[in-house]
Amino acid sequence: MKLKHLEMTLQRVGGFVRPRAALEQYQTPAPLAARLLYHALMKGDIEGKSVCDLGSGTGVLAIGAALLGAATVRGIEIDRNAVDAADANAAIIGVDVEFIVADVQDAALPGRVGTCDTVIMNPPFGAQRAHADRPFIDLALVTAPVTYGIFNAGSAQFIETYTAGRAEIYEKVGGVFPIRRTFSFHKKDVQDIEVEILRLTSSQYQSPMA
Ligand code: SAH
Repeated sequence: MKLKHLEMTLQRVGGFVRPRAALEQYQTPAPLAARLLYHALMKGDIEGKSVCDLGSGTGVLAIGAALLGAATVRGIEIDRNAVDAADANAAIIGVDVEFIVADVQDAALPGRVGTCDTVIMNPPFGAQRAHADRPFIDLALVTAPVTYGIFNAGSAQFIETYTAGRAEIYEKVGGVFPIRRTFSFHKKDVQDIEVEILRLTSSQYQSPMA
C-alpha cells in the first residue's frame, strides 16, 4: 500500500466520541499516523511483525499497522469507550486488531500481553499530568526491541536522559500535529503542535526465545 493510500484510508478512522482531557485523548491525524507507520515499514519493523500500540485510543496507529501487513496487532487502551470505537473502526476498515482494555501502569500487564516485535504509540504528552508519557516508555522498553513514538518537539533530550542505559534513540523525524478545538481550554480552532517521531531501540527487552 502506498503512503498516500494509507493516509486516505486512515482518514476514515472515526474519532473519540467523548474525548477525555485527563487522558489526553487526541487522535493522531491521518498524515502523521501514516508517516510514523511508513517510516517503521521502511525500517522493516511492520510487515510480518507482531505490533503493539500502547494507548491505542480509537485505533488509528494499530489499524494502519494491520493495513501495512503486520502479522498480528494488539492495542492496549485504558478507556473502554475508546476500545469500543477502535473495534468499530477496525471492522469498518476491514482489518483484524485485538484491542485490550488495560492500564499501561498495571504491573501485571507485561505478563498478560507478552512481547511484540515493534511498539508504536502516541502517548499523552504530559500536558495534563507531568511525565504522563513515562509509564508508556517504561512498558514499551520491556515489551519490544524497537519502539516508534510521537512526542512533543524537543523531547528527545529528556527521553534520552530518562532512558539512559535502557534505550538509544536512533532516529528523529519531525512533524506537525494539528490539534483541533476539543476541550473548553482550547483557545484556537486548530493549534499546530510541533512533534517528533522517535525510534528507540531497547536494551531492556528480553526475547522470550532467549
Ligand atoms: N494512539 C491513539 C490515541 C492517542 S491519545 C492515536 O494515535 O490516535 C493517548 C491515548 O492513551 C488515549 O486514548 C488515552 O485514553 C490513552 N491512555 C492514557 N493513559 C493511559 C494508561 N495509563 N493506560 C492505557 N492507555 C492510556
